[in-house]
Amino acid sequence: MTEKNHKGRLFIVTAPSGAGKTSLIKALVELCPQFKISTSHTTRKPRQGEKEGVDYYFVDNDTFDNLKKSGEFLENAECHGAKYGTAMTPVEESIKAGKDIILEIDYQGAINVKKVFADAISLFIIPPTIDDLKKRLEGRGQNSEAEIKGRLLAAEEEISHLEKFDYVIINEKFDQALCDLKSVFNDSPESINLETSKQKRIFQSLIDSIK
Ligand code: 5GP
Repeated sequence: MTEKNHKGRLFIVTAPSGAGKTSLIKALVELCPQFKISTSHTTRKPRQGEKEGVDYYFVDNDTFDNLKKSGEFLENAECHGAKYGTAMTPVEESIKAGKDIILEIDYQGAINVKKVFADAISLFIIPPTIDDLKKRLEGRGQNSEAEIKGRLLAAEEEISHLEKFDYVIINEKFDQALCDLKSVFNDSPESINLETSKQKRIFQSLIDSIK
């Protein structure tokens, strides 16, 4: 394949809130700066330290709805009471320019993106146990008790869609999870062991623990 027609790859990374997705992706991109993270639009308010145009494009409800109406979004979804959307143009431009791009989106978005880009590579990051997720959410100190309860319920819903993803990464030890993530992004032979069908024995116990 010549440089001219080499297309960029599209990665979708999904995880329940508190599973460590953002820290893992940040570490991955620091090690492998060729991977670019797509910046989503959201109607939620910025958290401390978040920057406009870096973490998100923070927009009001009307702006979001207008963007949606004019067909700007590749996908959009509602999560934890706010709207989120991925703009189509930057994704298309990256792929065309041969640059790999990462979407950090929820499971609904992941399913919808796969309908448009069937060859997108989807990864689902899970905690080893639900109890572990609860401890991480509590440890972050960003959410009230009620919000944590809501996020744990949402996690159960999200995890029930895990088998629709191509790869499952278990974030028990950060360094190992980062290594696993790198092997999928770099298409290394070891990544075969991270395919969803191969990870079933491990994630089944997580699914069983929340039934
Ligand atoms: P947070 O508000 O904690 O940054 O994100 C909440 C959830 O929204 C996370 O699961 C995150 O992956 C998801 N999310 C962020 N951007 C998008 C997006 O553009 N589309 C969809 N569908 N989900 C998104």
